[in-house]
Amino acid sequence: MRAHPRIAVIGAGIGGLTLAAALDRAGIPCQVFEQARQLTEVGAGVQLAPNAIRPLRQLGVVETLQRSAVRIEAMETRSWAGAPIARTPFGPACEKLFAAPYYAIHRADLQAALLARVGPRPLRLGHALTRMEPAEDGVRLGFRDGTTYHADLVVGADGIHSVVRQALTDDAPVFSGLGVFRGLVPVRDLPQAAREPLIRMWLGPGRHFVCYPVRGGELISFAAIAPLCDAPVESWSADGSPGDLVEAFDGWRGLVRDVTRAARTVRRWALYDREELTTWSAGRITVLGDAAHPMLPFLAQGANQAVEDAVELASRLDGTTRADIPAVLGDYGATRGDRTTAIQQGARGHSESMHLPDGPRQQERDLALRASSGIAGLRGRAWLYAYAAGATPAAGT
Ligand SMILES: Cc1cc2nc3c(=O)[nH]c(=O)nc-3n(C[C@H](O)[C@H](O)[C@H](O)COP(=O)(O)OP(=O)(O)OC[C@H]3O[C@@H](n4cnc5c(N)ncnc54)[C@H](O)[C@@H]3O)c2cc1C
Repeated sequence: MRAHPRIAVIGAGIGGLTLAAALDRAGIPCQVFEQARQLTEVGAGVQLAPNAIRPLRQLGVVETLQRSAVRIEAMETRSWAGAPIARTPFGPACEKLFAAPYYAIHRADLQAALLARVGPRPLRLGHALTRMEPAEDGVRLGFRDGTTYHADLVVGADGIHSVVRQALTDDAPVFSGLGVFRGLVPVRDLPQAAREPLIRMWLGPGRHFVCYPVRGGELISFAAIAPLCDAPVESWSADGSPGDLVEAFDGWRGLVRDVTRAARTVRRWALYDREELTTWSAGRITVLGDAAHPMLPFLAQGANQAVEDAVELASRLDGTTRADIPAVLGDYGATRGDRTTAIQQGARGHSESMHLPDGPRQQERDLALRASSGIAGLRGRAWLYAYAAGATPAAGT
């Protein structure tokens, strides 16, 4: 029997666990090294689009995640004063066009669904990678607790501050000038309208507000994006102040007012991305997800792109020998680079248009948003939602 390469995945976030599940499906073992001693519930909601749902379905994860995910019926956009701008249907139209629904889910529920699929065996908690050295025909990994591991392949799924990425570039995260307040509000503390399965977005000068239900509709997850001038913090658990949130969206109408006033615990962190990678691999080392392409959240594709990377890499590793690994990684990076760069840049572009001051340019933008809403708006997202990573069936097949 052929020996499998020793694969070390660094990080048990969304991308790392998806890779472990996809490798397992291909019959390839791996070890997942995670710095946290426990995977506790941190963060708020993430959006899962058909381009991630189709591969997650193939991995057998959707059955579990749909117990807590909310199937989204439409995306509504309004002005900060509450005037309707556009409505794009998701619901059955999404399933018809892209062969999968659109979900909103608590990040912790998605991570738990992936963990349930992967099982505890490959997981090495409390292992923070601190160094990597080339070793004979492989890479020697060193962890903060002094332990080491010899791998034939290292995949950095270690997020925006990736240690593994340092083997590919010496770049640094780029601050966007924006921060995000995030949190969760029990739906029972909000007006009845909050229960509708919608992604709701309000646009205003220099800032915008998004909210949607998660955890079977019990909680409303919000992300409130506004300029951040003070010392930028990039941590999913940094505290924010409910008073600052209310002040930042003072005068905004409808659910924005209700949600900001009902929020008791608020996190606030700075928004960063990075420049695109010119190379995704060095010998037997590669990256995926935020370690490869952290992106601003304006296209809501962060978790989705991590899933795409993971299934693409796993499908390329299927049947690979140790000797093939560097070439396989080169092909993987070439395939994923163009796609993720387009999305990273698209997200950056949106940050300006979504935050225009009231006036002629904002009116033009609203007209354009209106013209591209409805079913035409959903069709216009085919470049995002119809993409079939790895061995995922294409939309509609
Ligand atoms: C705790 C947390 C909460 C988040 N909450 C939200 C949210 O509410 N909404 C949202 O849109 N996005 C959230 N994100 C980000 C979101 O998960 C990612 O943008 C996206 O899913 C891409 O996933 P990823 O697997 O590339 O990275 P991540 O999901 O960020 O996972 C990276 C993993 O690598 C681990 N890690 C980092 N460095 C090391 C190291 N040196 N050694 C070992 N392990 C390491 C981290 O602990 C983490 O588990 C959160 C990320 C984290 C880590």
